[in-house]
Amino acid sequence: MTDTLDIKITQTSASRLQETDFADLPFGKVFTDHMFVADYEDGEWKNFQIVPYGDMSFSPAMSVLHYGQAFFEGLKVYKHADGKAVIFRPYKNADRFNKSAARLCAPELPRDIFVQSIAALVDIDRGWIPEGNGNSLYIRPFMFSTDPYLGVQPSKSYKFIVLACPVGAYYSKPLNVKIETKFSRSAEGGFGFAKAAGNYAGSLLPALEAMKEGYDQLIWTDGKDHAYIEELGTANVVFVIDGKIVTPSTRDTILEGITRDTLLTLARHWDLPVEERRVSVEEVIAALKEGRMTEAFGVGTAATITPIAAISLDGERFELPDPANAEFSKKALKTLDEIRYGITPDTFEWNYIV
Ligand code: PMP
Repeated sequence: MTDTLDIKITQTSASRLQETDFADLPFGKVFTDHMFVADYEDGEWKNFQIVPYGDMSFSPAMSVLHYGQAFFEGLKVYKHADGKAVIFRPYKNADRFNKSAARLCAPELPRDIFVQSIAALVDIDRGWIPEGNGNSLYIRPFMFSTDPYLGVQPSKSYKFIVLACPVGAYYSKPLNVKIETKFSRSAEGGFGFAKAAGNYAGSLLPALEAMKEGYDQLIWTDGKDHAYIEELGTANVVFVIDGKIVTPSTRDTILEGITRDTLLTLARHWDLPVEERRVSVEEVIAALKEGRMTEAFGVGTAATITPIAAISLDGERFELPDPANAEFSKKALKTLDEIRYGITPDTFEWNYIV
């Protein structure tokens, strides 16, 4: 731990907490009363502030609007029955944030500043953390370049901001997905491993086209030959094939998901066979055809574990067994929930208490 951050706090004079309908929390639309803001100028992080959530004004020449030096994180805060607020694995997000920063030529944000800024915001907006299973406070830290300059070069100034959104339970029905063989999310040597805003801009059209074709989501394949499985929409993808937990190994084209790591840690703790390796489209289709794939699901912060009901390749559809009977993913989700909501002891030390 570094010294506690010196944060200037300006409390809102008009809290929106009482007028917020906690029974209706569409993802990412309701924001807490405050936000954390810091500036990077003259080679250092400064002006650590918590201010009322609200609009900000910027130069139209601001570098991020033109060349896209922007990246973010997503993590969640849970309220325990004893009133404690816990941030789930924030140092993992801090480390990934800095991997994104390095690839996008943005300055490193010391991990303690990352975690303390979130903790300070959670503390002041503690009343906004919804209680109950499935409910949480979604935290969105992000950084972007702010030089008012149109030259193509790394900006010298940046802003780091943290927003917080109360979010409800994410009840998703099992997904009907297709294996994408035309578009790519990322390329070797590119920045698919970074949580760069541009990766999401590029994924909108392929996702929209998949939806027009009647699918809920798409499975990304490698940008070279579309022969290997990479991710599921904005989540990592995991299969259970021949009783083994199989997932694509992370590489420069794949985001190293924290939920993925959490799940694989649990699987290994339970002595289940785990294989992190390249997973070919051919292997997946063969396992589906031969009934050797018993589970397939996406893993990510927003949806936690989202089961897949059917996978299509070139219009041919293969059904998975009913996810209601999915042994591994159901057990993993139950255990994960028990740890996050403080029902079982946090033996892996994943919970950061605020
Ligand atoms: N892949 C992509 C492209 C994502 O956007 C996300 C969501 N952050 C994930 C995987 C899952 O990562 P995590 O478990 O850390 O949320």
